[in-house]
Amino acid sequence: MTLHERDARATGPAPETKALLMSNSMPSKNLPPLTLVTGGAGFLGSHLCDRLLAEGHEVLCLDNLITGRKENIRHLFDHPHFHFVLHDVTRPMDLPALLAASSGQRPVPPRPLSCLLHFASPASPKDYARHPIHTLKVGALGTYHALGLAKAQGSAFLLASTSEIYGDPEVSPQPENYWGHVNPIGPRSVYDEAKRFAEAISMAYYREHAVKVRIVRIFNTYGERMRLEDGRALPNFMVQALEGKPLTVYGKGSQTRSLCYVSDLVEGLYRLLMSDQTGPLNLGNPEEVSIRQLAEAIIRATGSKSSIIFAPLPEDDPQRRQPDITAAREKLGWEPRVSLENGLARTLPYFQAALRNAPQPADDSRQ
Ligand code: UDP
Repeated sequence: MTLHERDARATGPAPETKALLMSNSMPSKNLPPLTLVTGGAGFLGSHLCDRLLAEGHEVLCLDNLITGRKENIRHLFDHPHFHFVLHDVTRPMDLPALLAASSGQRPVPPRPLSCLLHFASPASPKDYARHPIHTLKVGALGTYHALGLAKAQGSAFLLASTSEIYGDPEVSPQPENYWGHVNPIGPRSVYDEAKRFAEAISMAYYREHAVKVRIVRIFNTYGERMRLEDGRALPNFMVQALEGKPLTVYGKGSQTRSLCYVSDLVEGLYRLLMSDQTGPLNLGNPEEVSIRQLAEAIIRATGSKSSIIFAPLPEDDPQRRQPDITAAREKLGWEPRVSLENGLARTLPYFQAALRNAPQPADDSRQ
């Protein structure tokens, strides 16, 4: 069943959503839960908006469109329960003002916010290198503003944290009780330390103000709607393979990552939101591959004749990354279902179509 089919069949909030509502103060039984997603036009945020709508939420999607894209949410503009607000989370967030600024099919009936999912942030190394101060401000000021709103509204608050808080880890796989190995002043620190601060302030709001905090540490995730040029290994390799160009593996390619397909991740996120778990909880696919193996898998999946070339390893590039998901298995009954091979096959048509529709460079010899 597609998300839209689920939408069409939905007659109201799913049972677990109703359970959440019981614990949140809601003025009317007949209105769907009002849920705000910061970064809702991003890769993960837009998939979350789809899922929340399918589960019967009314969704306020906030984005400043620095790295998010309207294309990711365009299919939702006609949905009666979807509303977009152009807003930068580094500026204060006030619910009546956000509602007044929102664009949607109809005005949002005012009521408290049931859930706030804080996903706004540049998230690829290339993006946060390009916006270092903004990345720090989003993790610090943005999280502070989002927590203030969740506190005022009595909302459940889900923080999108990251495996980056483990830095270049000395233990593998990484369990949640590993404190990490982060260079506080290196090029990746603007993201890593911002997310570490975001976790710290979320826990402070949980302890001091009893905000219903859930923290997820998201490991590398891929799928439809990734930006072709976001600089990450998977989109770079997909585009290079589909264009018949050499795949650029940094370093020797022996560094590892564990890649989770987006539908698996979204399932885990929704389960965490509906749970009473503060976390932090790792969500990711424990299937670990070297970057060279990833490049080879993408050459196979695309049927490309591309070769592999080696380029310098970026500074502080983590050598290993693999989630220990024991806690998510036990507390959420969750584990990924989609193998890397299947996930690449599912993602391929998106990259093929995106490349067909991408504007051609002026000097492109294909024209
Ligand atoms: N990488 C690579 N070639 C590329 C892009 C990335 O070899 O064209 C490497 C990068 O150095 C890192 C890994 O792939 O070791 C994953 O990088 P990515 O930017 O996808 O995410 P990260 O996990 O580092 O945040």
